[in-house]
Amino acid sequence: MKVTAVTAMILRTNVTTPFTSARGWWYKTKNAMLVHVETDEGIDGWGEAYGPAECTKAVVDSLLSPLVIGQDPMDTDVIWEKMYQRIEDYAPQGFGVAAISAIDIALWDIKGKKFGVPVYKLLGGAFRSEVTPYATGLYFTFEEGDFITPAVEEAVKYKELGFKGIKMKIALNRKDEFERVKAVRDAVGNDVEIMVDANHGYSLYDAQYLARKFEPLDISWFEEPISAHDLNGYADLRTKTSIPLAGGENNFTRYAFKDIIEKRAMDIIQPDLCCCGGITEVMRISALAEVSGTTLMMHVWGSAVGLFAALNVMAALPPAPHSWKPAPVWMEYEQTESPFREKLVNEPVRRENGVVKIPSGPGLGFTINEEIINKYRVK
Ligand code: CA
Repeated sequence: MKVTAVTAMILRTNVTTPFTSARGWWYKTKNAMLVHVETDEGIDGWGEAYGPAECTKAVVDSLLSPLVIGQDPMDTDVIWEKMYQRIEDYAPQGFGVAAISAIDIALWDIKGKKFGVPVYKLLGGAFRSEVTPYATGLYFTFEEGDFITPAVEEAVKYKELGFKGIKMKIALNRKDEFERVKAVRDAVGNDVEIMVDANHGYSLYDAQYLARKFEPLDISWFEEPISAHDLNGYADLRTKTSIPLAGGENNFTRYAFKDIIEKRAMDIIQPDLCCCGGITEVMRISALAEVSGTTLMMHVWGSAVGLFAALNVMAALPPAPHSWKPAPVWMEYEQTESPFREKLVNEPVRRENGVVKIPSGPGLGFTINEEIINKYRVK
């Protein structure tokens, strides 16, 4: 089998209510940078890159696509190395690795379809048939005003929808943010897990203050309290709070995760398949995590393509440790409006009784909805 075409495309739509996290970057559109790989056997595959769409598309078009066309898509390790060698000197973190990720995911989709099995079978089989979604939300939608009431209302809605966990964005000054998180905890009670995500918006001093204040609120993890690249800061903060620290959506390849793990910087690493290097690379990162006692929980923020890829990997990640009554394997389930999360595929993910079943179709487990591609494709 040979790859005959690699097409990088951008889907874009306006959102009704712009929103921001602690970064202060207002999301006014939702974007998806998808890669479609075609072969001479008529089997095709889909992948996705996380990050600025025009940039990741440019890397695919200009650097990677010429390397992949003509290759046998079964050779995912060989192709991964070829692609990495091409970008290693200029973009070993960021756009370059995200572009590799999209192609790698598409190649795994093709491999699964070639054998007529889900990707998780090719990764060694499924350790589980379902995962537990938590709602990611409670973003900020205005500059000034009452930030507590909308946060409480949104959290209560997720609880009523049956979510067992809620990850709330935090961004306010440390005193106001403590009051906001406390109000959410008071509103949802103690039977819903709460995680907080600062999108690296705090100084080490503020993060330390907030972590100490959050401790009585039973927070399951503090995500990206500080810059993803200040690993010594994470290691410091970790010694000063009992709240587990999480991060990894802005770290790329096994090299970066090796550094995080060696510095004992995070309790939970959160590689994103669509930027950490794809399915090939996340399995290597998983091995590093397992032997170091670090928990791995996937970061998921993109379209259905990335979500289905993540579900296949979540099925195949070995339990660490094996235990009689394991903790839930959390699936990040972003809740801001997007036609690309459910409508992009003909077999959307369904949340029933608080869990999501691992898809069982060949490849990543979906067929693409061409109508959505045609309606939203801008490049
Ligand atoms: Ca995050």
